[in-house]
Amino acid sequence: MSGSAHLPEPLCARCDAVCCRLTVVVQPEDRIPAHLTAHTAAGLTVMARDAEGWCVAIDAARMCCAIYDTRPDVCRRFTMSGPYCLAVRTDYLDSTSRGIPLALYS
Ligand code: SF4
Ligand code: SF4
Repeated sequence: MSGSAHLPEPLCARCDAVCCRLTVVVQPEDRIPAHLTAHTAAGLTVMARDAEGWCVAIDAARMCCAIYDTRPDVCRRFTMSGPYCLAVRTDYLDSTSRGIPLALYS
């Protein structure tokens, strides 16, 4: 999220861009193509995710965001090494190291 193309940063470069599995709420001022979005039961517009929970805007190698220049504001504000970054990385590394299937974040 910090933008998966959030990869110039050292920590992001060693990460599978796991923040791009979090729910990303799209704001009206974000200009995201409709085919990349979905709607929640609560009526929120969010970035659509694939069956494994990855944002559909991330590339197959999970190295860059296909809409990096116009990514949602939420993604722009996500802080590398911030509390959410550290929490989602810890959860992801714990699950994958123990062979636990990834859970979808709601
Ligand atoms: S829009 Fe880009 S930066 Fe935001 S979650 Fe999706 S792939 Fe990551
Ligand atoms: S979870 Fe943190 S380290 Fe990983 S790509 Fe996102 S911002 Fe970077």
